[in-house]
Amino acid sequence: MSMRIQVDQARCHGHQMCAIAAPKLFGSDEIGNAAVLIAGDVPRDLEAAARRAEGNCPERAIEIIE
Ligand code: SF4
Repeated sequence: MSMRIQVDQARCHGHQMCAIAAPKLFGSDEIGNAAVLIAGDVPRDLEAAARRAEGNCPERAIEIIE
C-alpha cells in the first residue's frame, strides 16, 4: 500500500521536530513551517521515518494518507 504525507499549515508551529525525525521527508518553508520534500508516494524505506515524524509532531499537524 502506498503512503503520502501532508502538513496542515494551520496547525504547524515550526518546531522542526519532523525534520529531525525524517530529514529526507521534511524541511522548512520560507516562514519556518514544515515543508514536505517529496512529491507523491513516500519511498518504502522512509515509511517508518514518516510515522516517527507524525508521532513526534506536538501539534498533530502531519497527516499520513494510505
Ligand atoms: S513537528 Fe509538526 S508542528 Fe513542528 S514543524 Fe514539523 S509539522 Fe510543523
